[in-house]
Amino acid sequence: MSHVMNTYARLPVALSHGEGSWVTDTEGKLYLDALAGIAVSTLGHNHPDLIMAISAQAGRLLHSSNIYRMPQQEQLADKLAVLSGMQEVFFCNSGCEANEAAIKLARFYGHRRGVDEPQIIVMEKAFHGRTLATLSATGNRKAQAGFEPLVPGFIRAPFNDLAAVHALAEQNPSIVAVMIEVVQGEGGVHMADIEYLRALRTLCDERGWLLICDEVQCGMGRTGTWFAFQHAGIVPDVATLAKGLAGGVPIGACLAAGKAVGLFGPGNHGSTFGGNQLATTAALTVLNVVERDGLMGNAIRQGALIRNGLGAALAEVRGVVDIRGQGLMIGIELDRPCAELMTRALSIGLLINVTAEKVIRLLPPLTFSEEESKELVARLAELIHDFLKI
Ligand SMILES: *Cc1c(COP(=O)(O)O)cnc(C)c1O
Repeated sequence: MSHVMNTYARLPVALSHGEGSWVTDTEGKLYLDALAGIAVSTLGHNHPDLIMAISAQAGRLLHSSNIYRMPQQEQLADKLAVLSGMQEVFFCNSGCEANEAAIKLARFYGHRRGVDEPQIIVMEKAFHGRTLATLSATGNRKAQAGFEPLVPGFIRAPFNDLAAVHALAEQNPSIVAVMIEVVQGEGGVHMADIEYLRALRTLCDERGWLLICDEVQCGMGRTGTWFAFQHAGIVPDVATLAKGLAGGVPIGACLAAGKAVGLFGPGNHGSTFGGNQLATTAALTVLNVVERDGLMGNAIRQGALIRNGLGAALAEVRGVVDIRGQGLMIGIELDRPCAELMTRALSIGLLINVTAEKVIRLLPPLTFSEEESKELVARLAELIHDFLKI
């Protein structure tokens, strides 16, 4: 029996090494990677710039503690501020930690305004992480079951339903923030409407609430802009990043703007590893390469190619409910549970994911080429076709 705690339904394959959008398992079998470690490997695998930067930094200093100044961390914060239009960044090591920081920031903000039990509006089907507070913010009863008592202070609203948020605003004077994934990932690749996001921004301004955007999955250029909220032309008060930020080195970031700036002082929050030299050097490199190589434009082009390609190849296939997404965040919803497609895909040399039971999720590296997009469409269309025809 394995000594690793049994917290994942693992697929029967161990990956050994990768090159670009391709990975090889320990048996020597090659796979096209349309998942990128769940939106993590932004630059694909074995990227020369990232290897060089990480290796050089490892030979200088891996870590020093936040007791000391870290120039790389300051540079990364400056860069993220420019890219987002926001002002301050707190660094941690993962998405749930970034969201914990955001939740603490919202509560702190509430108490400053004299709200004793600040409440945060969160969405149905949301995913914000697995720590107690982020699990409580997550809109998935299955994930929460058995871990009660949950952390209080969250009120649930249906996604893309402005009237529901307005109704809550009238009922509850303790609300201090709205927290939302601009594109829901785990929930099944659902995009927030542009008008809804703009209206949330306005409502938050009118009410003095913080607008918190969880960009852990949809950020870092994946949808074709650095942050998915930029499609709506808004700037939130708080935004969180993690997954793809350092291309595979663990990192998380909580960004603040407007009313959320200057709230925390020394002692209010912290992290031992957060933003260390290795992680921030990796992130700076990823941001530079995404910019230098025009990878956001590539995400838009390849995303359209994949969605259109699948649309054409599956047009006559009954059982395909929807093909949606933005840039290289793509969902193909079927009319039936299809988790077994992950295993079936392995046998044809393809890495994909299934979320929300019926949604095939694609999150390829932003370096995906046109040939790879076509190859993905060909392999996946055949897979879906075979699966649905029985
Ligand atoms: C993955 C994810 C998280 C949690 O990130 P971890 O690094 O696993 O803690 C939070 N929010 C969203 C939107 C995510 O996709």
